[in-house]
Amino acid sequence: MSQAPVRTPLKPLDVALAELLAHALPLAGNERVSTFEADGRVLAEDLVSALDVPAHDNSSMDGYAVRAAECGDPQAWLPVSQRIPAGFNGEALATGTVARIFTGAPIPAGADAVVMQEDCTARAAEAGDASPAVQVQKMPQSGQWIRRRGEDVARGDVVLRHGERLSPASLGLAASIGFGELSVAPRVRVALFSTGDELVMPGEVAPADMKPGAIYNSNRFFLRAMLQRLGCVVTDLGIVPDRLDATTAALKGASQQHDLILTSGGVSVGEEDHIKPAVQSLGELSLWQLAIKPGKPFAYGRVGAAHFIGLPGNPVSSFVTFLLLVRPFLLALQGGTELAPSPITLPAHFVWPKADKRREFLRVRRNAAGGLDLFANQSSGVLTSAVWGDGLVDNPAGRTIAHGDPVQFIPFPAFLA
Ligand code: AMP
Ligand code: MG
Repeated sequence: MSQAPVRTPLKPLDVALAELLAHALPLAGNERVSTFEADGRVLAEDLVSALDVPAHDNSSMDGYAVRAAECGDPQAWLPVSQRIPAGFNGEALATGTVARIFTGAPIPAGADAVVMQEDCTARAAEAGDASPAVQVQKMPQSGQWIRRRGEDVARGDVVLRHGERLSPASLGLAASIGFGELSVAPRVRVALFSTGDELVMPGEVAPADMKPGAIYNSNRFFLRAMLQRLGCVVTDLGIVPDRLDATTAALKGASQQHDLILTSGGVSVGEEDHIKPAVQSLGELSLWQLAIKPGKPFAYGRVGAAHFIGLPGNPVSSFVTFLLLVRPFLLALQGGTELAPSPITLPAHFVWPKADKRREFLRVRRNAAGGLDLFANQSSGVLTSAVWGDGLVDNPAGRTIAHGDPVQFIPFPAFLA
């Protein structure tokens, strides 16, 4: 006789995320790393600029620095009184002359515009006229082709803030104001394991030798890859057998040197699901039924000093709950401030006639017409949907979608960058 299932009320995603983040206190142990090594790390300081960038007004073209008002006559030959390459300071521009100038070189005092060399006719020095000269074919506008001092960064500006995740461009910006090292949050140490006696490893068992009921462990691959993309130090504990003693031992060992223990599978409340009693025997656990689809069962708890998160076993559920809940949790542990990517509004080029009481995350793909196509099979076991798709439509609970309706789209790269 099976018992009547206990119905836990469904927990809205926003409530679950807020509860989770309330536990995600930033880890201690900020480190100083070379700016070269800081890509993807979370900045643990405000970067204040000690200088203007650019430091001087400078030329954005190869050409001639001029006084614009002296260039009204395209027939007039203006002597070239000096030559200013990038990295050198010129002298004040003598009246009635121009300066040969190159991209990045400081504008000499007195000049108020740059004429690009394509708009000039140049003449070499001649006997009786010792300097080269140019004719300016087009009357320049005052200020043209000059990059202004401080137009990128002004001295005293906070160019990057504590909690920002560093991108290749932010490393360049930090370098542009002189930071060769940066203070960043520690990497999160994550122990990862999969539960399920049906799981076997690709490479260990050939497809032809698979026993009935066996499946390859796919979650382990994408979870590990996503953790690595988020800069975590991953200890992969492999597959833990569906036994209470084995599950307890794995959890206990993992709790020593890790900030987070992440598991997939075994968080439903079936008889083969040993995560719940194992975590409870060592610490505390809340089993949640999330009001999202895919991805209903989800667990948060603690084992010793380590956080515990149990993801559902179904691959797409595991994948989606990682993006929606684990990713922001990991960023919050690093003091991150931008925890979720912003959705984009795009038209649905599909219909979704059946509303669900749970908020749905549909696997879709952008098409050439600027709309979204739907992957036909939205089952939580069909991992193809996450590869065919290039993002998720966040469809509120109880909503149907008609062709052309605006929907909220979150591209996968925004999550996985
Ligand atoms: P569970 O959450 O353990 O009840 O598993 C739900 C479904 O996901 C079952 O069909 C499992 O076989 C499958 N599953 C669990 N873990 C994995 C995994 N690591 N890789 C692929 N499928 C899995
Ligand atoms: Mg299982």
